[in-house]
Amino acid sequence: MNDKQLPLWAGQKEGRFFTRIEVTTMLNGALLTLPLHVVTGRNPGPTLGIITNVHGDEFLPTTAIRRLLSEIDTAKLKGRLAVISVANPLATAAFGRQTPEQHGRTDLHEVFPGNPRGNTTQMIAAAITGHVLNHVDALIDFHSGGSGGRLQARVDYDAKAEPKVKQRSLELARAFGMPFVHANDLTGTASAYVNSRGIPTANPEMGGAYLGPDNTALYTGQAIAGLRGIMVAMSMLKGAMKPPAQLHFDLKARREIRPRHSGYLVSRFERPDDLGKLVKKGIKLGEVIDLYSYQVLEELTAPFDGYLFFSRYSGVVGGGTQAFALAEAATSKWLD
Ligand SMILES: [Zn+2]
Repeated sequence: MNDKQLPLWAGQKEGRFFTRIEVTTMLNGALLTLPLHVVTGRNPGPTLGIITNVHGDEFLPTTAIRRLLSEIDTAKLKGRLAVISVANPLATAAFGRQTPEQHGRTDLHEVFPGNPRGNTTQMIAAAITGHVLNHVDALIDFHSGGSGGRLQARVDYDAKAEPKVKQRSLELARAFGMPFVHANDLTGTASAYVNSRGIPTANPEMGGAYLGPDNTALYTGQAIAGLRGIMVAMSMLKGAMKPPAQLHFDLKARREIRPRHSGYLVSRFERPDDLGKLVKKGIKLGEVIDLYSYQVLEELTAPFDGYLFFSRYSGVVGGGTQAFALAEAATSKWLD
């Protein structure tokens, strides 16, 4: 990988530009390519990289960014946006989270910076690294709930980044304006690689797929507002940006509640405004029903007083699936 190569947008003047980055030849004879959208502003400024659909079934951010790119007035934009709209086309084509290939690691979110001589997932990562990650001044690695009906409203940043980069990443995360910011372990992600180059990043995890028209519109609006907030914080757009009060929590404060059994989860917290609620220890979050015997297989309860930051619609779940997640009230901190 040559990090001295010029980006594909080198010399591009104000306007919009779309191209496809070649990765490899697939067995059906077609080229595997990655879509790159570039919007260049009239005035100079930073380059903000955005990647979406790193997990193939997380398309809420992808469609939100389509709208954002069409709405941006390049005359008012300083710098540019460089967007990979579908980072893992093979996973997306399979309606799944990971690359459907036979060997090696298949979660694109774990293999950065990739390897042009590795498996297909690593080749995809290497192409994104060489063409985008090595040329940005900040990166948004945008995730959402996938086909499993998850509800989320938080922005993660890498807890392992070196302190200065971590602080700048936290500022980006806060500028997105979600109710939760989470110091997470992002080992192997695009963010961890970009952080290692001294560049700040933020990983929004918001909304989900198939949430119905009202919630999809709500989260789409929040995704666009969040990205605009980050662009204001980076002085790419004019405007005022004051993050709301946000709950900050680290990995120690995070507890996932996973069913031991597969079945139909009846969720008691399946609305966007359920996120952020303080749930007392012992409160029932949901129950898992056996579709065969109609028996209740288990009840899922809150292990401590905590703020609900991840929830799930009612629906089928596999044993061990992340169903709910709480940030422990005693060790999380409100930022204002
Ligand atoms: Zn994801």
